[in-house]
Order: sequence, then structure tokens, then C-alpha cells
Amino acid sequence: MTRLILATRNAGKITELRAILADAGLTHELVGADAHPDVPDVKETGVTFAENALLKAHALARATGHPAVADDSGLCVDVLGGAPGIFSARWAGRHGDDQANLDLLLAQLADIDTPHRRAHFACAAALALPDGTERVVEGRLNGTLRYAPEGSGGFGYDPILQPDGDTRTCAQLTPAEKNAISHRGQAFRALLPSLRELLG
Ligand code: IMP
Repeated sequence: MTRLILATRNAGKITELRAILADAGLTHELVGADAHPDVPDVKETGVTFAENALLKAHALARATGHPAVADDSGLCVDVLGGAPGIFSARWAGRHGDDQANLDLLLAQLADIDTPHRRAHFACAAALALPDGTERVVEGRLNGTLRYAPEGSGGFGYDPILQPDGDTRTCAQLTPAEKNAISHRGQAFRALLPSLRELLG
């Protein structure tokens, strides 16, 4: 069985990709980066989601000798010209401070009316083989930004993005509902043909 490494320490992402592989009838053994603790963290020096996903996938494939999948994602706000984009995790200055990131974004958009509060979550998913072969695909979830957070599920900017076609925020969806429409779910599913092509 081919071992496939997912460049994350987030158990939720591993579960999500495992479910997508199983639904597609793929039997690869999927493990997280924790299974190879000696692999150093990669600097995300790319300026697009695709570049950063590829950087992470290549580093992991090279270091482990196994095919590797990596994703990179963020929130892109139309009126901010696509920001926070690749800076989503550190928009307020400190990496991973979800509450501060969300508060700053809401303050920046306080005077912007609903028709101009369009935004989307974007995700690039990359597959790299130890020989340098690569594939990268993207997914996105379009929606409108609320004026105040609502819902307690999910993470990051979930409480303020209302996906098109729903009256709830992403933080009010069940994990299954979110995975079915999310940028990450779409990107992982779009990677399936490449997994079949390159790994059999
Ligand atoms: P990462 O690529 O998973 O590390 O995500 C980067 C950042 O983008 C996160 O810290 C969040 O701020 C934001 N983000 C990415 N995906 C989502 C999502 O599904 N919901 C909410 N925020 C997200």
C-alpha cells in the first residue's frame, strides 16, 4: 500500500482527507506529518496559496521519500483586493491568533455595506512525489461577510463568512456540511484524479 503523507499536524484535516480518499475508493495509507517528526518545518515564502502548498508538499516528499500532499488556504476579501489572502493566519500580527485576526478584519470593514462584503475562502492542494513530480489544484467557497461573529463551530474566520445559498455562517454548519462545500474539501476532491494518475 502506498503511504501518503499529509503536511499538517491538524487531526481534523487528516480525518477529512481520509474520508475523501475512502469515498473515492482509494486505499492509500494516509498519515500526518507527525508520523515523521524529524522533518523540519518549511518557511512559507511563496506569494500564492499554490506556491506555498507546493513548497510544503515538496519538502515533505523529499525528506520522507513518500508522496506528500499539502494545502494552503485563507480568506480573500474583494473590497480589500484579496487580502488577507496568504496573510490570513497572521493578519493581526501574531500567527494563529484567530480572535485578533477576525476582530481586526471586522473593524476594517465596519463601514462597508453588505453588497460590498463579498469574500471567499481559497485553498490550494498540492501533491509532490520524491522525484519532483508535482500537481496543484484549487478550491473556493464564495460568500458574504457578516458584521458580527455567529456560531461556535469551525475555526479562523468561520464565524463571519456566510456561504452563498445559506443563511448561516460557516461556524454554524456541522463539520460534514462544511466539508461538503468547503474550499479545502473541493481542493482535496479535485486532487483525486492526480492521486489516481500518479499513485495508481
Ligand atoms: P491554513 O492554510 O489551514 O494554515 O489556514 C490559514 C488561515 O486561513 C487560518 O489560520 C485561518 O485564519 C484561515 N482559514 C483557512 N481555512 C479556513 C476555514 O475553513 N475557516 C476559517 N478560516 C480559515
